[in-house]
Amino acid sequence: MDLGISGRRAAVAAASKGLGYAVAAALANEGARVAICGRTGAEVNAAAARIGAVPLVADVAGAGGGRAFVDAARDALGGVDILVTNAGGPPAGDVAHTPLDAYVPAFELNAMSAIAMCDAAYPEMCERAWGRIVAITSISVRQPIAGLVLSNTARAGLTGYLKTLAREIAARGVTVNSLQPGLHGTDRLVALHGGDAGAAAASVPAGVVGDPADFGAVAAFLCSEHARFVTGAAIPVDGGADAGLM
Ligand code: NAP
Repeated sequence: MDLGISGRRAAVAAASKGLGYAVAAALANEGARVAICGRTGAEVNAAAARIGAVPLVADVAGAGGGRAFVDAARDALGGVDILVTNAGGPPAGDVAHTPLDAYVPAFELNAMSAIAMCDAAYPEMCERAWGRIVAITSISVRQPIAGLVLSNTARAGLTGYLKTLAREIAARGVTVNSLQPGLHGTDRLVALHGGDAGAAAASVPAGVVGDPADFGAVAAFLCSEHARFVTGAAIPVDGGADAGLM
């Protein structure tokens, strides 16, 4: 299926590896012109070279970091038609072992960063009457994950913002959605599960952890011409892990 986004300009945050990289690769494969970022120059340069993207060394944490990345991507590409927000995950910890002063940095990393990226990108999308915003969040928004209180809390707040923005600009040709990864085979999974993919897979009804490329394909579809009537959605990509009805 031709996704109809050849030549569209895409800014994909935190994309030198893992899920962000998979989304950037899927968009580049559809002919989009892509700019990616990460904090480590060598890794972002190597990743960008593999997929023909523009490499930007940037830390997207906080409002300033998120906005600066979108501004740099706009400078590099001449505009931003597609925005994929992403960042690293916050430290693990349950409520009892998470100090109060850990919450603001987590909000800066996993909420303010993405909010600032959206704020920097959506006005020009509305002016052109075409845009796609996809935020990478977590299945924890549906079903908070034990031992990840910072992620559970920050991403829920971001999801409230995304839904609000989606409805405010739905008539302007711009869609705003989030994708909620379950367990996928990335460095983040190794960091949280000690590299035991087998144990992690046991909790997934599909019986395996997700392939980041499959996540990328879903994201690319949400960025497509065909997905123009999908907005305000928060979609799990989790092999059936979420047990809820909604
Ligand atoms: P990953 O494999 O660790 O990759 C993270 C990527 O983001 C790397 O390219 C990293 O490069 C970059 N990055 C991290 N912090 C950044 C920052 N502040 N500014 C710019 N770039 C940054 O992680 P992942 O598994 O793809 O996860 C992506 C997001 O999805 C995370 O928020 C994670 O918590 C969430 N998530 C993942 C899973 C899963 O199963 N993998 C499940 C639920 C939610 P540098 O380190 O060089 O900057």
